[in-house]
Amino acid sequence: MVNVAQYQSVINGFINKNVQLVAVSKLQPKESIILLYQNSQKDFGENYVQELLEKQQQLPADIRWHFIGHLQSNKVKYIAPFIYLIQGVDSEKLLTEINKQALKHNRKINCLLQVHIAEEETKFGFSPAEAKVLLHKIIDNPSLYSNIIICGLMGMASLTDDTAKIRGEFRALAGMFHQFKKIFPSFNTLSMGMTADYEMAIEEGSNMVRIGSLLFGQRKS
Ligand SMILES: *Cc1c(COP(=O)(O)O)cnc(C)c1O
Repeated sequence: MVNVAQYQSVINGFINKNVQLVAVSKLQPKESIILLYQNSQKDFGENYVQELLEKQQQLPADIRWHFIGHLQSNKVKYIAPFIYLIQGVDSEKLLTEINKQALKHNRKINCLLQVHIAEEETKFGFSPAEAKVLLHKIIDNPSLYSNIIICGLMGMASLTDDTAKIRGEFRALAGMFHQFKKIFPSFNTLSMGMTADYEMAIEEGSNMVRIGSLLFGQRKS
């Protein structure tokens, strides 16, 4: 069950810092979301489309739903009418589909590009080099994804106890973010940090953290 005192203490730690908390509510009951909502939390992160659709239909309409993690192209159409921010766009194919669905619904959808900064071989995310090529392509052709707002970058550090390594990965992503912020007008969000490493992520310049188990306890998976 959600721990409201823990939530308050996390939020209090963000006072005077420019950091937004996305409460990661995947596999958590609606009652827990409502409790945080009553404590002014408006941003929630989910990463299963079916679960997100059910929650979105049943919970307050002003919740800002974030899709975190890998999204299959064929599922974009279900979330396109309402999704607030798609965190973790990891291919051009997905970007193309999001743009198409956004057009259909006559809206612009906020997206972050997922960059894999961790050393381990992950399936998802652009390499830093690929992300740079893509961003330059969009800068050169601003109408390419006319119904997408690329708000910034998202990344996940390695699963390791080696804090120096984690810090280095966050620093590298922050460096890339600041480099592109200068030439990419819509860049304002650097999403990095989860329960285990969010404090370090903020020290390295994150302005959006995605925290689940610290607030809600362990997920039933
Ligand atoms: C589940 C998840 C989180 C939250 O993880 P915790 O360790 O529970 O804070 C953050 N980001 C992504 C992409 C996730 O899938």
